[in-house]
Parts: sequence; C-alpha cells; structure tokens
Amino acid sequence: MNKYYYTVGLEIHAELKTKTKMFCACLNNPDEEKPNTNICPVCMAHPGALPVPNKKAIEGVIKVGLALGSTIADFSEFDRKNYFYPDIPKGYQISQFKYPIVSGGNLANMDITRIHLEEDTGNNKHFDKDGGYSLIDFNRAGVPLMELVTEPHTFEDPEEAAKVASNFAKEYQLLLWYLGASDANMEKGEMRVEANVSVSTEKGVLSPRYVEVKNLNSFKVVEKAIKYEYERMIELIEAGRESEIVKETRGFDEAKQKTISQRKKEGAADYRYFPDPDLPKMYLHEAFDLEKMKSELGELPVAKRARYKNDFGIKEEDTEVYINDPALAEWFEKVAGILNDVEAIKLASNYITSDYMGLKKTNPDVKLTSPENFAELIKMAKEGYISSRATKDILGRIVINDESPKKIAEENNLIQSNDEGALKTIVEKIISESPEVVAIYKGGKENAIMSLVGKIIKESNGSANPQIVIKLLKEMLK
Ligand code: ZN
Ligand code: MN
Repeated sequence: MNKYYYTVGLEIHAELKTKTKMFCACLNNPDEEKPNTNICPVCMAHPGALPVPNKKAIEGVIKVGLALGSTIADFSEFDRKNYFYPDIPKGYQISQFKYPIVSGGNLANMDITRIHLEEDTGNNKHFDKDGGYSLIDFNRAGVPLMELVTEPHTFEDPEEAAKVASNFAKEYQLLLWYLGASDANMEKGEMRVEANVSVSTEKGVLSPRYVEVKNLNSFKVVEKAIKYEYERMIELIEAGRESEIVKETRGFDEAKQKTISQRKKEGAADYRYFPDPDLPKMYLHEAFDLEKMKSELGELPVAKRARYKNDFGIKEEDTEVYINDPALAEWFEKVAGILNDVEAIKLASNYITSDYMGLKKTNPDVKLTSPENFAELIKMAKEGYISSRATKDILGRIVINDESPKKIAEENNLIQSNDEGALKTIVEKIISESPEVVAIYKGGKENAIMSLVGKIIKESNGSANPQIVIKLLKEMLK
C-alpha cells in the first residue's frame, strides 16, 4: 500500500454587497426577481458605453485584505479576460490578472495567494418545453465579484485536508459577514466555492493531474466532494489506471453523492488578458487611507473568540453560537454585564444555548427578552429561589411575553423556601412519619433519602428548595 499526499487549494468567488454594480449605476440587488430589470448600456455592452469603477467595491476588497493580514497593492489595474459565452455580453469579463488588489495573508490554517476584483456574469436559464431553449437574465451581469485564491496545501490525512478546506470556507464567510463585505449566501450563489484537488505519491511533489470541483453549495458538500475525489483518485492509482485521472472540471451531484465530469481541460485556456484601456490605473495607497481603514475594521471573529474565552470562561461550543449570531452575542454581553459574576454568566449561557435556542427552534414567536429580565431569572435560579424546573417554565413564558420573572414566580408560587427554620418543622414531621425509609437510609442505602425529599417538597406545596432539604435531612439523620 502506497503512502499518499493529499493536496487541496480553494478558489472562492463572493459577490460584494454594494448599492450599485461594479462599472455602472445599475442597482446591485440579488433579490430582484424580475429578469433584466437592473440593466443599462454599460452592463449590456452597448457600443460606446464606458465603464466607471465602483469605489465602494474596491474599498470592500481592501477591507477584506486588511482583515486577512494581506498586502494591499500600491498599483493595481483591470484587465480584459476574453472568452465567448452568452451570459457575458461584452465578449470579455473585466477582471484582474497581473496586479490583483490583495496578495498574501492567511486565515484558518491556509495561506492566501491573492484576491482580485472582477464583474459577475448574467444567469442562463434553461427551459425544456417547446423543444428546449435558454433565456438570459442580466440582472447579475456586472455585479462586483471578488475572487480569492489560496495556495495549495498538502496533508497526509485526507480527512484533515477536507476539514481544513471546508473550515477555511466557513471562516471566510464569517469574516465577510463581520466586515459587511458580502452576504455570502452559498445557496443563493453569492459565495461560490471551488476546490482544486490532487493526490501525489511523492512527498513535496504536486501532481499535475488535478481536478477542479464545482457546485459546492454548502460546507458539508465541500468536505464530502474533496473526500470523494481523493478516494476516486486513489482507486484509479491502485488499479494502475493513474492515466485516467485527467485535468478536468467536475461537479458534485447531490443526489448521487459523487462528483461527475463536466468538461475536460485541454491545456490552459488562452484568455488573451490585457489591461482594459477604458479604465484608469489605480494607485491604492494614495486613493485610500489604509491605516484609518485598518483601525475601523471592528472586532473580527478571532479576537472575539479570544475575548469570550478570557472574559466569560464559557464553553467553546457556546462561544461559537455567539460568533455566528452577532445579535445574540450583543444581547448576551448585556446580560453578562448586568450579572457581573462568572458563575452566573456561565449559568446564563447554558440556558441561552440549550433552552432558549431549543425554544426558538420549535416556536417562531420566541424572541429575546430584555437583558434585565433574563438576568433577573438567572439570579433567582443561581440563588436557589426557584428550581431549575421553574426556571425553564418561566423562561418559556418570558420569551413570548417579556415580563418580570420575579413577578411570575410570585404569582405562581414558584419561590422556593430557603428558610431553614420553617423547613425544619416539615423535615422533622416527615422523618417521624417514615420510620421504614429512615431505617433503610441508616442501613447504608443513601439513595433512600430522595423519597423523603419528595415527600417534604410535596408537604411544602413545592416551595422547598431541594438542596436545603437534603442538607437538613443529612444533618438530622446523622
Ligand atoms: Zn448597468
Ligand atoms: Mn473569476
């Protein structure tokens, strides 16, 4: 059995969230349903129409580069990438070739080669009726699109390679959200991930037989498709059919759970790149105040994770819930500020990530309470004024109607009695009424005490704090 080296590199396209398109004043509205609404002579390539670059889009790419610790080019320009396809009306795509805006940087254990800015294409829509025909919607044509390319990374474990790649895509999406650069919705095609995959039998040697896998519309699929490709390639190598691994584009078929060949690559496509003479050269260090932009990036996921670990001491999974839901995080931080006590904050986080999130999943009416009311509930639970059962019940009510938990507890007799003096009388009564259980307990069966606890809580009409009851019982039965 050979030893294999597993290589993966990613190309990720993401549509920038701007008001208008990349080179014209048409709206950039991914939710526009009426075809060919946001179009004009520029994005329809009418003769004589001239492009004007969108500064906000360039700024968006620079922001992403700054957040990744990349180098922002001083000089940059746009090139024409020539190819013919119906969804590209000019016969070329405005892209960047030699001088991308961003180079270098890294994220989530992968090194980044570059990020360049280009324009998106239109959408082909195929119809089967009347013998089959296609229509093109140009609403998307000319939408600013940033293309990130990573370095190829080699692993000895295929699972790890696939995990690192899908995790990179996830972290990149998160970063784009934090920066407000893109909505990066993979299902809507706002973020499109492609993986270049190859297997080598020699350490440090990249196989020229690589495959580009497309149609990866979720992080799970990114991982699955990469693993599938490794298995497919190794099967061919082991069968002595390595020559059948060819440079090609494959797509992941969700229904069949496998990749399928889409088109073979015959050498490198010749796009005859050249600088677009209609667009100005860009001197980015002059046009943008990079230091100021860097200082205004805001808190990014990595820093936020570290702060949560340091300030709140909550579980890593809990932190991830907040990292992925900034509105929930902001609310949690307000609650934590009111509680101002590490143990209470941990308890609060448990109720948020398990109980609150559970309630929200089953009922669309569930919403966040005021931070004050939630903090009050957690304080009562922590001090033992209410049982954990009562805490859950009250939580279920205040996420629908945001009321004072204390008021609900009082009105429904949910306040546990912590008054030892008053409870002692009940404990004594139950002990004297239950000689058999007491004998079993004293005979060494410690669990027997729980049946006494149940009786005492019942006798107190549910108000007795079980912790105090157990403590009293243990003292009195010594
Ligand atoms: Zn336009
Ligand atoms: Mn591209």
